[in-house]
Amino acid sequence: MSTHQKSGKNIPIRKIKRFTLNNTSKPINDMLFKKSGFKKCIQCGRCTASCTAAYLYQDYNPRELMRKFIFDDVYSKEINELIWKCGQCYSCRARCPRNCKAGLGVQSLQLKSVFNGNAPPEIINISKQIKLNLYKYGITFLPSTQRIDLLEEFGVKTNDQSIENSKKRESLGFKMDMTRINPLPEESLQEVRQILELTGFVED
Ligand code: SF4
Ligand code: SF4
Repeated sequence: MSTHQKSGKNIPIRKIKRFTLNNTSKPINDMLFKKSGFKKCIQCGRCTASCTAAYLYQDYNPRELMRKFIFDDVYSKEINELIWKCGQCYSCRARCPRNCKAGLGVQSLQLKSVFNGNAPPEIINISKQIKLNLYKYGITFLPSTQRIDLLEEFGVKTNDQSIENSKKRESLGFKMDMTRINPLPEESLQEVRQILELTGFVED
């Protein structure tokens, strides 16, 4: 078994099976995609009736997406745009009589889209920022790096309430990016960095 030495102490490297990160495999063969259970879907539509994204966006419909999954019809530009409307709330899973997980199939397509470089620029930027935050601080979201303008589609009220978030945090006695009471232990941060390096992350 080899070891990894780039950051911190050596750790043994186990062979990692990359089920979802293979650019060349079709989504239909992807383990995460299969776990959506699309083959069991009976097109009843309960997922759509409880879907938060379907409530917000007229063109988003998890039942219809599951139908496309069944027919391996997931390679269009339209699908590549639709998948970013899913908020991964998993109401679809809770309501499905067949224990399907439309959101999981969508997540698999989102991952493929990012790794293939097909995701919209704002998603690529968010993905980069999350990885950078994780690498530097061991934290995915930091208040100072949140894109408040992306909340506009949730309505004027949400946008207005969020716009002063930084000031509100400070007025409550929090420092800008203090998202934990205790900082991540150095040893854990080194492990996070090693995992990122092993999976191809490079700090720009
Ligand atoms: S609730 Fe389940 S079975 Fe019904 S359409 Fe949605 S995924 Fe298919
Ligand atoms: S996980 Fe996505 S598809 Fe499922 S209910 Fe939530 S927003 Fe809709």
